Amino acid sequence: MLTVEPFQKYGRTDGAIPVLHPPHLREDAENVSRLLEAGTRHLSLLLETDPPEAGALLVSEEDWREAPREGERPYPYGLPYFTRSSSPPALVLPETLSAVFGPRTDALLPLTLWHELAHAFLLQREVVRTPVWFAEFLPQALSAAVARDEELPLAEHLMSIDREPGYTVRTFGGRASAKDQMAFQNLLLLLGDAAVREFGEGFLGRLVHALRDEREVVDEGRAEELLANALGPDGWSWLVSRSEF
Ligand SMILES: [Zn+2]
Repeated sequence: MLTVEPFQKYGRTDGAIPVLHPPHLREDAENVSRLLEAGTRHLSLLLETDPPEAGALLVSEEDWREAPREGERPYPYGLPYFTRSSSPPALVLPETLSAVFGPRTDALLPLTLWHELAHAFLLQREVVRTPVWFAEFLPQALSAAVARDEELPLAEHLMSIDREPGYTVRTFGGRASAKDQMAFQNLLLLLGDAAVREFGEGFLGRLVHALRDEREVVDEGRAEELLANALGPDGWSWLVSRSEF
């Protein structure tokens, strides 16, 4: 994947998603590798699909500028992302998550990794454009489902989330601050987890398959409809009863 300096010096852990890492981060890489292995197993079952061909790159701060990415300018250090600009596509992961990530519980790192991994699964095939809340709901709900399967202390994590940041996932709009972005993602996590508990994880596969059948850009109304239909007959009344929605 990465034959350029400084990544030539990086070591590699094997697995469903191989992890490249600087020599001093071997233990962190092994932990990441285990979590990605578990995530890959669950997401393959949930979405009835083969795992994506992808790698992970655990990057130290001094090498961050050289990491593959779509745009010219590096993202701020500490924000993990998934990029298709390398071959194979890569999950680019910082050594430590930015301070804006929270709540700071043992569930945070696994949830964050599975979110990016879910993007890798979803982007195996081209999909039409959707509202941001819909595009980010999927990886959040999927990572919540994996967390349940893996028996992570999810309840404790969700308890620490601010449930009323002053907007809902649909009224979030284009707020750009990192703090608002995190609050938005956490609302989506609450909604995703609640949906999995109420309707079971089967709706996730239905939703992804329905999305793949869409041929036109999915607007607000259509996104609401796709989600409600995937949930089932009570989907819409349940959604509008949720304060995050
Ligand atoms: Zn995302």
